[in-house]
Order: sequence, then structure tokens, then C-alpha cells
Amino acid sequence: MTARNAKSQAAFERAGKVLVGGVNSPVRSFAAVGGTPPFIAKAAGAHVTDIDGNTYIDYVASYGPAILGHAPEQVVTAITKAASRGTSFGAPTEVEVRLAEAIAAAVPSVEKVRFVSSGTEAVMTAVRLARGATGRDKVIKCIGCYHGHSDAMLVSAGSGATTLGVPSSPGVPAGTTADTVLVPYNDPAAAKAAMDRHAGAVAAMLVEPVAGNMGLVPPAEGYLAALRELCDRHGALLIFDEVITGFRVGLGGAQGLYNVRPDLTTLGKVIGGGMPIGAVGGPAEIMKLLAPEGPVYQAGTLSGNPVAMAAGAAVLEVLAGEGVYEGLAARSAELCEGLQRAAAGAGLAEKVCLNRVGSMFCLFFTPGPVKDYASATASNTKAYAAWFHAMLDAGVYLPPGQFETCFLSAAHAAPDIQATIQAAGGALKAAANLMA
Ligand SMILES: *Cc1c(COP(=O)(O)O)cnc(C)c1O
Repeated sequence: MTARNAKSQAAFERAGKVLVGGVNSPVRSFAAVGGTPPFIAKAAGAHVTDIDGNTYIDYVASYGPAILGHAPEQVVTAITKAASRGTSFGAPTEVEVRLAEAIAAAVPSVEKVRFVSSGTEAVMTAVRLARGATGRDKVIKCIGCYHGHSDAMLVSAGSGATTLGVPSSPGVPAGTTADTVLVPYNDPAAAKAAMDRHAGAVAAMLVEPVAGNMGLVPPAEGYLAALRELCDRHGALLIFDEVITGFRVGLGGAQGLYNVRPDLTTLGKVIGGGMPIGAVGGPAEIMKLLAPEGPVYQAGTLSGNPVAMAAGAAVLEVLAGEGVYEGLAARSAELCEGLQRAAAGAGLAEKVCLNRVGSMFCLFFTPGPVKDYASATASNTKAYAAWFHAMLDAGVYLPPGQFETCFLSAAHAAPDIQATIQAAGGALKAAANLMA
């Protein structure tokens, strides 16, 4: 009998000879959960189909972008039309103006936008802009928040040291991260202490307003407002990294949801409709410091790529329609209530913690509450791996790692939700065996 994933296994072996780890982004390799990743042949709506012909209900959503589900008609049409007119000109286009207008209209703190090709670039640019605007070097960053893979941001909590950043990857010179100051997430007192310790030297506090890269961790009540006040008091900029949350938790992003205005905002993922994209935005007064209006340099051959712009504009148009976010939240709530019942049925009611914000959720295999990196990493990752594989076997594709967020799309319908809850009943029993 051939394995259910025989073709993916063969493809992964072939891939390993020419691609590092067989992939182009580490988490895709299944290193955290073991096994062979399904190679995807196609996707439609809430479902992805692998090259062996297995179809899964998808909660990865390309790690966030696929908020309308896969290959939505409006977006496919926009991409096809744009591509037929030429894929890149290195010159201004109307469609990039249209997307920038849609973003500025929706995101409270954004007047002007600079498009780039990834979230990593967006953060790099925002940090450079903050340093240029303040004439200061230090940036405060939260432990467990991810801001892309640029050198200065590739720091987490290797040690308990929260004063100076220690690189979390070989190849990142200590000097590059020496100005990155680490603090725990959801801890306003720690942020204040860091700001006081480096008074007059902090260019910006950078934060995921809803943390989505240590699993999902919502901001504690008042946390974002406390950061706003702290930055104002110290003349530092507040940067919200909304690469995940922008147009995901609402049209106004997390800043709209929690009613706190950052100085700069980074965007990506959803705004590109599945095409490579990133953006930094803010008030004209700060944005004008960027070249060509100002001295802070930034450029990109494929920035504002017309195909990506057309895809993004099509997605934002659909999202602006009546009731999209209400529907997403309602179906997500229904799913999460079902997962809680399934957890109770598996004897895990007191042993797991389910966090949700809108259409983002994460099931942690720890009692919780999960409120920061330390409590997130208390999760039993062996139990997560068991849950993950049992769900995959049952036709549900979850992120292959505990410290990622699950995403619902507008294409997830009632039968998908019910099938997922059904699958979870058995899968959580498999995980429970590892948590005795
Ligand atoms: C994904 C992500 C990034 C990096 O975006 P890329 O497009 O992968 O470079 C930055 N910040 C946050 C919060 C992200 O989730």
C-alpha cells in the first residue's frame, strides 16, 4: 500500500537536494512537528489540495494573507488583468495610488504610505525612519514578537538579560543588535523601566499590537494605551507592527480595534492579496522624511508592483463590504466554542488555553493564561505535535508549530467549522495522552 502522502514524500526528498531544508521559509519544513509537509497543488476557498490529492480545511491561510480564502474570484480577475498589462515597470502606476488611498482611508494613523515587497522590509524602513526622525538609535522590542528577519530585529530572549539585545542567530553581529532593547510583552512596567534606563536614547518602541508570532497573545487591557503614553512622555515613536493584524482584526487594524494610535504602522500579508508586499505608513509629517521628500533613504525595484497592488486593492474592496468582519468573528467564535467543548470532552478543559482575537486563534497546551513569551513557551509542544498530526490525518491543516496563529477566512463555511470541531474531538484525545 502506498502512503497517503507518497508524492509529497518524493517531492520533499527532491526538494532537499536543491532547497535548504527542502523549503524557502523554515516553519514550512515541519521541523517543529516532525513528518513530511504536504506539497500543495492548488487551493480554493477554505481548502488546500496536495499533490497526492488530499484536501484539507486550511487554517494556515498562507500565514495570514488569505483572509478571503484561496483564489477568490475578484482577486484572481484583478491579478490576471494586471499581469496581462505587464508585471513591472519601475514607474508610477494608478493602482498603487488606489491601494494607498484605501489604506489611508481605513487605518486611523496613516496619511501616507511607502510600499515595499515584504513585512521584513516594512519594519526595516519603519525603524530607520524612526531613528531618522528622532536622531536616536535605540529601539525597544518585546520578547517573542517577530518583526521579520532583518539583523537588528532578530533578537529574542536567549538569556534573562533585558538590557541589551543578544542576537538569536549566528551571522547577526552583536553590534547590530546592541541598540535593540528587550522587554516582556504585556508588561508596561518593564517598558517604562527600559525607557527610563535609556532616557533620551530611544527612537521607538516597536510592538505587535496583537502578538501573533508566539502563538496568539492579545494585548492586556490598557497595555497599548500605556505604551502610547510612555512614548509621548519620552519623545519616542510608537510603531505598531500590523503586518498580521492590519485588515485582519478589522478595517482599521488593531489600532482601530483598541483605539490607540501609533506614530508608524507596518503592514503586509492581507494588503497584498497573497502577492509579495509590505508597507509602512504614518502621518505626512513623519513620512516626508523618507526619500525623495526627505533624507532617510529607502528604495525597491519591485516596490509597488502593479500585480501585487491590484491584488491588494481587490481584497480591500471586498473587506470594506458590509458585515465581513462580523461574519469572520462569528464563525471564529463558533469554531472556538466547539474546540473548547472538544477539549472538555478529552479531559483537557483545565489543561489548555485558547486565545482568540477576531478571526485569529491559537490553542496552547498549557493551562495559561498565555499572556507573554514565557507563558506561551510553557506549552507542551509534544502535545501540540500530536494534535497537529491527528488533525492533518483528519483533513485539517493547522500551522506546523505551536507558536503560530491559526486564521479563519471568509470562505470557511458552517460545514468546515463543524468538520473541524468533529476532527478536534479525536485529535485532542491523542494530545491528552501526552499531557497526563
Ligand atoms: C510576517 C511578519 C513579518 C514579516 O513579514 P514578511 O513578509 O514575512 O517579511 C513582520 N512582522 C510581523 C508581525 C509578521 O507577522
